[in-house]
Amino acid sequence: MGLFESEIDVQRGLSLASRVHRKYRPVFDRLPDRERAALAFYFLPHRSAKDILEVTRPRVIKWYCPFADQRTFPSGHRYCINVYTGCEHGCEYCYAAGYVASRAGCKNTFRADLAKDLDALDAYDVPSAPAHISNSTDPLQPLEQEHRHTLYALETLAQRRHRFTTIIVLTKNPSALTDERYVRALHRLSELLPNHPRAEWFEENSYPPLRVECSLAFCDEKSRKVLDPGAPSVESRMRAIRFLRKEHIPVLVRIDPLFPRDPLPGGKKMSDFDLPDVQPTADLGRLIRFCQEVGAGHVVYSVAKITRPRQGGLPTVMEKMKRLYEYLAPERSLVFRGGSWRLPKMVADEVVVKPFLELCRQHAVHAKTCKSNLISTP
Ligand code: SF4
Repeated sequence: MGLFESEIDVQRGLSLASRVHRKYRPVFDRLPDRERAALAFYFLPHRSAKDILEVTRPRVIKWYCPFADQRTFPSGHRYCINVYTGCEHGCEYCYAAGYVASRAGCKNTFRADLAKDLDALDAYDVPSAPAHISNSTDPLQPLEQEHRHTLYALETLAQRRHRFTTIIVLTKNPSALTDERYVRALHRLSELLPNHPRAEWFEENSYPPLRVECSLAFCDEKSRKVLDPGAPSVESRMRAIRFLRKEHIPVLVRIDPLFPRDPLPGGKKMSDFDLPDVQPTADLGRLIRFCQEVGAGHVVYSVAKITRPRQGGLPTVMEKMKRLYEYLAPERSLVFRGGSWRLPKMVADEVVVKPFLELCRQHAVHAKTCKSNLISTP
């Protein structure tokens, strides 16, 4: 039994929910009263005297993206658990570098905070939702070897499995998951007991309640070293994906982000911008065939953004990429939004996405954008 043993508590939660900022209304307003009240108690600062409340309660099991406006980015009620801060992989194109600390670090109170949040979910009887581990850091970066916070999180979430629908582990280091302790935890998370509130739905729709999402944007080590210099090798990622598939663990490959490639419009080449052709069509074809071979569900993609880091300037390779983007975007139409430069949609679709989707079609591999993959995850 949670907090809501009486109608009065629900009413308190509803009065709190009525003060939530309107950008969160699309999520709050469509829920039944009791669920709306539970969400309000969990996410909103309930001692605040402000008239309008933001989702700002400090949590490690937090709202998917505290910056997201649900009217424009309808991610719904979902959680993100950022196990570490920053990321040792240091990818040149890292989108998270725009808003998190550049130095990777361990959250000293992570375990205690996780336990506290799980207790709060139970106390308020918050409806189950998807959990993403992690979107602003790699949960299996080298720090994990020393601290094992991600292993702890996986094992602990398995004990409260009823609080979560799909659990997603997103990493560039899937080989960490081949350790038997992780495999055991992933198998436990893959099973929904009959008393799970959504067990029937997952069963009826044959939808896997756990998946590993592995980013693998390059097929060639030389290209990987240009843009993912601190991340594990292509070969180690592929080997680990094969292993996990043999263990019947659902894996989805993210060929993400996508970059422009030769031939560029106007007769130019990547080398004209002092850039290597990091994702030639032949390499993309190999990656897509790999996804097909390992039965990796669908593939996920998005067009590379050029993120302005919170600290320091753009890395040299991304400076060059920005010059290429400026060339591709006619008449200064490069879009700057949310701290990143992006190609105008029409250019991105025509130059970057269309040839990729054609390859996916040829290999009968279904592709989803990063956003549609996220919002279609129940
Ligand atoms: S693995 Fe992800 S979070 Fe880490 S640096 Fe690369 S893009 Fe950023």
